[in-house]
This record gives sequence, structure tokens and C-alpha cells, in this order.
Amino acid sequence: MNEVLVIGGGASGLMAALTAAKQGAKVTLLEKNDRIGRKLSGTGNGRCNFTNRQLDLSCYYHAKDAFLSAAFGQFDNQSTIDFFQKNGIMVREKNGYCYPYSMRAEAVTEMFRLQLLKENVRLCTCETVQDFFRSKGKWTVQTQNKAFTADHLIVAAGTAASVSSYTERVLTAIQRCGHHIIPFGPALTWLRVRQKAMKLAAGVRFPVKIDLYLDGKKAISETGELQITSKGISGICVFQLSRYITLNPDKQAWCLIDFIPDVPEETLEKLLKTKKDMEIRAQMNGLLPDKLTAALLELSGHKPEAIPGLMRRCRLDITGTGDISDSQVLCGGVDTRELDPETLRSKRCKDLWFCGEIVDIDGKCGGYNLQWAWTSGYLAGKNAAKGNEIYDSDQRY
Ligand SMILES: Cc1cc2nc3c(=O)[nH]c(=O)nc-3n(C[C@H](O)[C@H](O)[C@H](O)COP(=O)(O)OP(=O)(O)OC[C@H]3O[C@@H](n4cnc5c(N)ncnc54)[C@H](O)[C@@H]3O)c2cc1C
Repeated sequence: MNEVLVIGGGASGLMAALTAAKQGAKVTLLEKNDRIGRKLSGTGNGRCNFTNRQLDLSCYYHAKDAFLSAAFGQFDNQSTIDFFQKNGIMVREKNGYCYPYSMRAEAVTEMFRLQLLKENVRLCTCETVQDFFRSKGKWTVQTQNKAFTADHLIVAAGTAASVSSYTERVLTAIQRCGHHIIPFGPALTWLRVRQKAMKLAAGVRFPVKIDLYLDGKKAISETGELQITSKGISGICVFQLSRYITLNPDKQAWCLIDFIPDVPEETLEKLLKTKKDMEIRAQMNGLLPDKLTAALLELSGHKPEAIPGLMRRCRLDITGTGDISDSQVLCGGVDTRELDPETLRSKRCKDLWFCGEIVDIDGKCGGYNLQWAWTSGYLAGKNAAKGNEIYDSDQRY
């Protein structure tokens, strides 16, 4: 029986451990928190948007399409839905976004906990991995308490996104195994803006169309609810822009916001004509939240005649992203060129596997990051459990 060690009891590690155990491996999972699935239990505002009915390669950012096609070809969104249903989680769909029927992310963590216990997986919490290395054909994993050994090692340690502390020593051990780590950076987070006037609208949530420009060229366009905060702008439509800022630090970035994208120009003109004798806040009443009108007025230098134009094209200069600890997901991670997409096995080191966000793949909001965790966890777990069989035709080792 193959022995498999999994580092990390998050979404991908839980899937990897369960899959490996179901294939007959003897599995031990090491988690530094005092419970498994802490981040998973908070996903989707506590509701866990675990996949999406619409899945295609454009939902992900990654080095090579072929890598993701090979992985999703074996375990895709339908496989996830089937897996959840088979394990007792009924699915609730909203516009293609899939959640547990109870709308409770905790239910997903609990499902994994029960299944792992059923499959006799040894769950070791409060074990922070400090180092790992290979000697005499086995892996040794050192935590702050003790050493664990196994034939196969799956690294599912996630990233520093949205956690208070991250053990960088795992990354050092990965690099010692011959892997390159593409630098991490915020991929789904809020944005800082230069215009201080927007603070007047802090707390406003409003549906908008937002276009991001980098050095004058439109990079991406999103629609959705904009959230204005005292620090900048946020909301899912803003999150989707953030990785472009991270990856283009030298480019001048600004966004153009249309606060009334679904109001035709003639309708607006007609409406404003009927109100032309009113002062600007009264004119905007019913069209924009009052705090937003106040912010736009400040932004215009107190020129009421500029407000209709600003409603359509409000330029905000972007000065940066939220921090890594504020991000839902990071870009960067283990270089996919050094992994086999069919199995998630390392091409650099024998009996080593990676899954989840620690791999250099990140997706848009909408269930795509968890889908990657399920897909990669499934492949790493299944193939690590098979062990040496998969090396038979591979001369590299
Ligand atoms: C607030 C929030 C909401 C989100 N909502 C969604 C959503 O609705 N849908 C979606 O698709 N994605 C969502 N995401 C993203 C998604 O949660 C992640 O992409 C996913 O959890 C990554 O899974 P993972 O297993 O790679 O990493 P993680 O879930 O981060 O798990 C890694 C685990 O490894 C453990 N670990 C790390 N280092 C060590 C160590 N040295 N020793 C032992 N254990 C260690 C960590 O404690 C952690 O439990 C959200 C993220 C956040 C922060």
C-alpha cells in the first residue's frame, strides 16, 4: 500500500487526500491550523461558490492552454457537481454559479471531514510544516513537532492570500527540489485610487461598467456592483481588474467608470431637461446615490455642468492594489512547465505532486479557483496513490 503525505488541509489538499485514500493509499494530512478547511469555510461570503456551469479556458490565467485542457479533460465542472452530489451535497445554482443547497460553506468542509474519517485518513492538525526532503527513496516532512515519512508527497499549501501568516519555508523546500516559483501577487483584490474625492462616497454600492486602461490601451472591461470604500474601490468587477495592475507595475493605469451604463443617452437628456432648473443634487436624485453625486461634484471642482459627463466617464487613476493579505487569490506559484498536466506530478523530483493555488494558475471570480482546487487535488491524489506505476514508461527518473 502506497503511503501518501498531504501538506495542507484546504480545498485542494482535502480533495487530494480523499481521492488518494479512495484509491487505497494510506494517507496522512498535515494542517497547520487547529481545523481543516478554514479558508474553504469562508468562501463565497460563507456560501461557497464551488464551481460554475460555464467553464472554459478564458476563465483562467495561466501559461499554456494545453496544461489546463489536459487537467480539465479528466475532471471538470460536471465531475465536481457529480462528486458533491455523490457525497451528499445537493447543488443550488444561480445563473450558473453552483453552491451547496444549504448555502453554507461549512457544509462542504464537514462533508470532507466525514469522508476523510470514513476512509481512515489520518488528520494531523496544528502541524506546521517547516521543511521536507527526500532521502533513501522516501519523503521526510518536518513539522514543529515531529517528522513524518511517506512514499509520495502532495504539496497543497495554498498561498498567503487572505491569511494572517504564511510559512515561507515550504516555498524554500519546493525550490530546493528544483522548482521555480513565479513571484506571487494579488490577483483578486480591491484597488487604490488617486482621487481622494471618492472618499465622500464611501459605503456606496452601485452597478457600473468599468474599463481598465494601461498606458492608454483598454485592457479589460467588466460590469457589476462597484463598492466605494474609504481606501479605494472594490467589488467583484474591480477584483477582476487587479491582476492586470499586479502584472503591469510600470504601466500607467486608470479606469473609466460608467455609472449609468443601461440608461440610453436620449433618456438621460430628456430627464435632465425636466429638472434643468433644479440644483445638481436634486437633478441627480433618483439617478445616483446622494453621496456619489457629492463625490462627483468634488471631483469636478464643483462644476455642476460636468456631472452628466462624469456619470458616463469618470476617470480614476489607479495607484495600486490591496495587499496580499486582503486578496482572495494570488497569481504566481510553481511554474506549470515543471509539472505534468495529466497527473500534477513534478517533472523535477520523484514522487512529488502539487495541487491548488500554489500552482501558477488563477481564475476569475465565479467558482473557478475552487474548481481548479478540486481538479488539481483529484489528479494529484489519484496519481500519487497509484505510485510507481506511472513511472514505468518514463525514463527521466
Ligand atoms: C474570502 C475568500 C473567499 C473566496 N471565495 C471563493 C469562492 O466562492 N469560489 C472560489 O472558487 N474561490 C474562492 N476563493 C478562493 C479559494 O478559496 C482558493 O482558491 C482555494 O481555497 C485554494 O485552495 P488551496 O487548497 O490551494 O489553498 P487553501 O485553501 O489556502 O489551503 C491551504 C492549506 O494549507 C495549510 N498550510 C499552509 N502552509 C502550511 C504549512 N507550512 N504546514 C501545514 N499546513 C499548511 C493552510 O493552513 C491551508 O489550510 C476565496 C478566497 C477567499 C480568501
